[in-house]
Amino acid sequence: MSNAFSVKANLEEIKENIRIACLHKNRNPENVKIVAVTKYVSVERTEEAFASGITDFGENRDEGLLEKFEILSKNASWHFIGSLQTRKVKKIIDKVDYIHSLDRVSLAEEIHKRATKKVKCFIQLNVSGEESKHGIAPHDVADFVKELAPFTNIEIVGLMTMAPYTEDEDTLRKCFRELKNLQECIQTMQLPFAPCTELSMGMSNDYMIAIEEGATFIRIGSALVGNEH
Ligand SMILES: *Cc1c(COP(=O)(O)O)cnc(C)c1O
Repeated sequence: MSNAFSVKANLEEIKENIRIACLHKNRNPENVKIVAVTKYVSVERTEEAFASGITDFGENRDEGLLEKFEILSKNASWHFIGSLQTRKVKKIIDKVDYIHSLDRVSLAEEIHKRATKKVKCFIQLNVSGEESKHGIAPHDVADFVKELAPFTNIEIVGLMTMAPYTEDEDTLRKCFRELKNLQECIQTMQLPFAPCTELSMGMSNDYMIAIEEGATFIRIGSALVGNEH
């Protein structure tokens, strides 16, 4: 079959697209990290991704994370990318390198309490204001980040958002640009626990726009590893 599914081929294409998007904005492609979102795929497909050279994996459920962590644990970095229930924190905390979905103080408290080392977290923002989306409202983020000071096991490495589900480029661009502005806003607060240098934004359908607007972590599922559901 000439068009058989191949993670490796998808990865090559995505890397080329990253290169092009970076060229548009004079960015270094090395500053864009690919997180392969494996929530829709099997352990086997995840192993294929690992064999293709992917080092960073994202899961949005504790079961999926634990199952795949078993197989690839030592050599991969794990990212928790979905809404995280407080009671699930202790199951995943010593497995993950990054949590992309910090969206409330009670969650920060639990992460701090269960952490065995400093945990790198992104604050999840609901930039688009859609009711279905999790995250802090843009006008609340400065106050929210200040409230995190007591939780010394947490480092706020950046901000994360999910853009609205649309093809409209202007809407997407506006959303990503706002996240970038908020990130810069937090950086100017110069909080030692919140360097906030990173932007986790961009998925299969919008990652090139996200990169043009400053994404440093893109979370790619279907375009990279497919969807077996
Ligand atoms: C599922 C998911 C992704 C990846 O989605 P694709 O459109 O398949 O690339 C990225 N981020 C989050 C938070 C997700 O839940």
